Amino acid sequence: MSINIAIDGPAGAGKSTIAKKVAKNRGYIYVDTGAMYRAMALHMLRENISPDDTTAIERACETADISIKYINGEQVVLLNGENVNAFLRTEAVGNMASASSVNGKVRAKLQMLQQKLAKEADVVMDGRDIGTSVLPDADVKIYLTAGSMVRAKRRFDELTAKGEPADIVKIEADIIERDHRDMTRELNPLRQAEDAVYVDSSDMTIEEVVDCIEAIIVEKLS
Ligand code: C5P
Repeated sequence: MSINIAIDGPAGAGKSTIAKKVAKNRGYIYVDTGAMYRAMALHMLRENISPDDTTAIERACETADISIKYINGEQVVLLNGENVNAFLRTEAVGNMASASSVNGKVRAKLQMLQQKLAKEADVVMDGRDIGTSVLPDADVKIYLTAGSMVRAKRRFDELTAKGEPADIVKIEADIIERDHRDMTRELNPLRQAEDAVYVDSSDMTIEEVVDCIEAIIVEKLS
């Protein structure tokens, strides 16, 4: 049986940075489920679909073939065969992902892919509903969060480091709106699983969070 570690939490809590490091340390595969929702959203943006056009979203979902491959340990998302990694991390794609991920057809399609990956290999999988819905029997479940201002500042620093324009007030407002949508949607909302360990990274460095999660994993797996 493969070992499955689930890390859930709101936008910008550092899930992917942390999950990537934990996976590397352990020799597990890192699965970024947000990137799958983002690839689906990119497909919809390219088709000029409005976030509230359910019929068009469901139609587009059928024509989007999303798959994953790993190149030098990095997850590459393929959208109808095209490597779309370079297009996934924009605010527009993130917001469309949040809006379209409320759709049951979108969720069902991506969950199937996620469950298949977790069955085939030892994984650290991050997202919103991994511990509660995708992998309810995961060996270890973490709920990783941080205050909204801290998360906005991290995103702001990331964008400015890349030389991209950024407005911290707007970033925080977007984060709060996205969290609200993710937490209140009907299907698989973001919430802490009953058996998940809560970690607030607001006042922790990346290394401290990795160490803390590694200690939780060691304890749970022993
Ligand atoms: O984590 P990331 O910001 O890349 O995710 C983008 C969006 O995809 C989230 O705001 C959320 O709405 C959706 N998502 C989801 N379930 C997951 C992962 C992401 O609904 N497991």
